[in-house]
Amino acid sequence: MFNALYLEKTDQGTRATRRGVEDGELDAQAADGDVVVRIAWSTVNYKDALAVTGRAPVVRKWPMVPGIDGAGVVESSTHPGFVTGDQVVLNGWGVGETHWGCLAQKARLKGDWLIKLPSGVTPREAMAVGTAGYTAMLCAIALERHGLERNGAEVLVTGAAGGVGSVAVSILSGWGYRVVASTGRPEEAEYLKQLGAAEVIDRTSLSTAGKPLQKERWAGVIDSVGSTTLANACAQARYRGVVAACGLAQGMDLPSSVAPFILRGVRLIGVDSVMCPRGDRQQAWDRIASDLDHGKLATMTGEIGLDDVIALAPRLLEGKVRGRTVVDVNR
Ligand code: NDP
Repeated sequence: MFNALYLEKTDQGTRATRRGVEDGELDAQAADGDVVVRIAWSTVNYKDALAVTGRAPVVRKWPMVPGIDGAGVVESSTHPGFVTGDQVVLNGWGVGETHWGCLAQKARLKGDWLIKLPSGVTPREAMAVGTAGYTAMLCAIALERHGLERNGAEVLVTGAAGGVGSVAVSILSGWGYRVVASTGRPEEAEYLKQLGAAEVIDRTSLSTAGKPLQKERWAGVIDSVGSTTLANACAQARYRGVVAACGLAQGMDLPSSVAPFILRGVRLIGVDSVMCPRGDRQQAWDRIASDLDHGKLATMTGEIGLDDVIALAPRLLEGKVRGRTVVDVNR
C-alpha cells in the first residue's frame, strides 16, 4: 500500500481524496510503465490545479492519480536505461492526465520519459523547479536560440509572481538581462526584486486592448498569460524582438494583428513542455543545474503535504499562490 491523491469523476464533478492504494492497482492502471519510482517530492503546477479542481478537462482517464511532476528513486526497472537506486525526475508526457501521476508515494512510469537528476540538484529542488520552472528555462533558451544577445537588453516577464514567471525572472536576471516583471500583485514587488527584477510594472498596463503597434521596448518576452497581454507584448517588442509564449492564465485567445511580425520582424515562439523532445529537456535540465540560483529558488518555494494539495489548487487558479510549491508526498 502507498498513499496517493485520488481523483474520481462523480455527477457533482471531480472528487479528490487522499487514500491508500494497493501496489496491484498501480500495476494494473499503469501497466505500460517499465520503471517503478519511489516518489519523494512532487509539486502543484497550474495544470495539476486544473486536474484536482476539475475546472478544465485535463484528466482523460478515470480514476486518476494526478501529478504531472515527480522526483525520487528508482525502486525497480525493466528499462535498460535505469537501475534500482537511480535518482530521477519526471515532467509531463501526459502523466497525471492519461497515465497515473506523481502526487503519490509511488509511480509506475516509462523509462523513456525519465531524466536522471542532474548532479547538484536535490529531488526537492527539482520539484521546486517542476514543469513551471523547466518551461521557464525552455522559454529562456528559445530567446537565446532566436538571437537575443546578453547585452543588458530589456526583457519582459508576464505573470511574474506565478510559478513560470518567478523562475523566468530569476533565470533572465542571472543571465544579465534587465528584467521587467509584470504582476497584478503590487505587494509582491519586493519579492520580485529579490529574484532579480530591475523594475516591476502593473499588469493592467498590458491586459487591456491596445494598438497593433506600440512604442518599441522589449528585446525579449516570456509570457505565461496569453490573451491581450501577449498581444500587447508583441506590439511593444523591439525590431526583431523575440517573444516566447507558453501560457494562458489570462485567456487562450490572442487578439493581435500581423503588424509586429511583418513590420518589425518580431518572432513569436511557442513553447510546449509536455511532449518536448528528450534532447531539449536534457538541455533545459542541464542549464537549470548550472545556472539556477539555489538561494533564489528557495525564496520562491513553499512546502505542503499531500492532503494540502486539495485546498491549494483553487487558490493557485485564482492567482493567489506566489512562486512554486513543493509537495512532501510522505506527509
Ligand atoms: P501560476 O498560477 O503559478 O501563475 C500564473 C500567473 O499568471 C499568476 O500568478 C498571475 O501572476 C498571472 N495571472 C493569473 N490570472 C491572470 C489574469 N487574469 N490576467 C493576467 N495575469 C494573470 O501558474 P504557472 O506559472 O504554473 O503557469 C502559468 C501558465 O503557463 C498557465 O497557463 C499554465 O497552463 C502555463 N504552462 C504552460 C506550459 C507549457 O508547456 N506550455 C507548462 C507550464 C505552465 P501575477 O500575480 O504576477 O499577475
